[in-house]
Amino acid sequence: MAASHMRPTGPDEKPYEPRHSRAEEARGYAERRVKQESRRRRHIAAFIIAAVAVALCVVAAGHGLMKNEGKQPEEQNTTAAEEQTTDETEDTSEYSTGLPNDGRIVMTLAGSADTYVKRGESYIEGGCYAHDATDGQITDKVTASGTVDAQTAGDYTITYTVSDSAGYVATATRTVHVVDEVDGGWDADGIAVFMYHDVYDPANPPEGATTNQNMISTTSLDEQLQWLNDHSYYYPSWAELAAYIEGKHSLPERSCALTFDDGTQGFLNLAIPELEKHKIPATSFLICSDADVQDKLSQHASPYVVFQSHSFDMHRAGYTKKGHGGRIFDMSEEDIVADLNRSAQILKTKDAFAYPFGDVSDIAPEAVKDAGFQLAFTTQYGLVQPGDDPMQLKRMRIFGTYGLDSFTGVI
Ligand SMILES: [Zn+2]
Repeated sequence: MAASHMRPTGPDEKPYEPRHSRAEEARGYAERRVKQESRRRRHIAAFIIAAVAVALCVVAAGHGLMKNEGKQPEEQNTTAAEEQTTDETEDTSEYSTGLPNDGRIVMTLAGSADTYVKRGESYIEGGCYAHDATDGQITDKVTASGTVDAQTAGDYTITYTVSDSAGYVATATRTVHVVDEVDGGWDADGIAVFMYHDVYDPANPPEGATTNQNMISTTSLDEQLQWLNDHSYYYPSWAELAAYIEGKHSLPERSCALTFDDGTQGFLNLAIPELEKHKIPATSFLICSDADVQDKLSQHASPYVVFQSHSFDMHRAGYTKKGHGGRIFDMSEEDIVADLNRSAQILKTKDAFAYPFGDVSDIAPEAVKDAGFQLAFTTQYGLVQPGDDPMQLKRMRIFGTYGLDSFTGVI
C-alpha cells in the first residue's frame, strides 16, 4: 500500500477542509438547494395554471358558458400568481438565511477523515459531531448517507449533513478505504490513548509550568504531533475503538487517540491551534458544571476537537477520601447516572467519559454503562487491548517535562 494511503493527515491530502472552505461549501449547497427548489415550484405552478385553464375551458365549453371563460381562468391565474409570489417570498427568505452561513456550523468528524477498513470486516460508523453558533451542540441532528461495501476493496464516501433551526446547512465527508493491508500492518499489541491536561506557551510560562508534569509546552506538543504525522498515524473514532476492544475490528498498528482532560484555557487557546495546524483530531474531556461550559463549546468549536464528558459535577473532592479523594465514592449508582446524563444533555454525545481524577468506585463502571456511555477512561497507565473492560480503559499519560524520545518510546 502506498504511503499516501496511510497518511490520513499528511500535508498533501486534506481530510478536513478549513472552517471557511467548509462554510463556503455549505453555503453553496444551501444556495443550490434553494434554487433547485424554487425552479421546481415554478414548474409545478406553471403546470397547475395550464391544467386548470384547460379544465375550465373544457367545462365551460361543455355547459355552453364560453362567455365566462375569460373570467374564470383569470381568477385562477390570479390565484396561481399569488401562489407563485408567496413561493418567491419564501424563496427569498430561505435564500437570505442561506447566504451568511459563514462558518456558524462547525462539523467535527470522529477520528480520521480517511477511514480504513480491513476487507471482510464491517465498516464502523464513527459519526460526526456538530456545533452551531445559535443552537449550540447539534450533534444529535447530524445524518449520514452513503454506503460502504466492506467485502470489496475500494474507496467509498460517507456524507454527513446537518441543518440548524434557522435553515443553514453544513456537510462534511469521510472517505472510507476498504483494504487488505495498511502500511505498518494491522495492530497486534494494543492502542495508545494519550492523556494530556494543560498546555502552556514556553515564551510566557505560568508559574511552576516547567516542572508540572500535567503541563506541556506548545513546543513539545508541536514536536509530538509532527512526529505522529511523520509516521502516518491513524486516529480511530471512539466507535472504532469500541469495536476493536470487542475483537470485531482491526486497526492499523500505527493508531492512537489523543485526549486532554479538564478543558483548561491552555488547552483551548494553545493546543487547539496546534491540533488544527497538524490536522490531528483529539478529544477534550469537559467538566460540564463549569459556569462557562457553553462559552467553551461555542468559542472553541473546531473541526479537530470533540468534547466529551469529564462528568457534570464529579470533578471535586468528596467525604470518603478513597482513591484520589473524588466525590464519586460518595455517590450512589443513580447519582452517577444522573450526573452523566446531565453532562450528555450539554454535550449531545455519550461516546466517551473520563473519570475525574481517575477515581473509579465499585459501582461506577456499571453506572457509566447504565447511563449509556460507550467507553470510559481511567488514569491507569497502559494500552487499550481487545478484551478490555470498555468501562475502565487505560491511557498513556504524557509527562509534560519529558522529551520527544520518551513520547516515541511509549507508543
Ligand atoms: Zn480532570
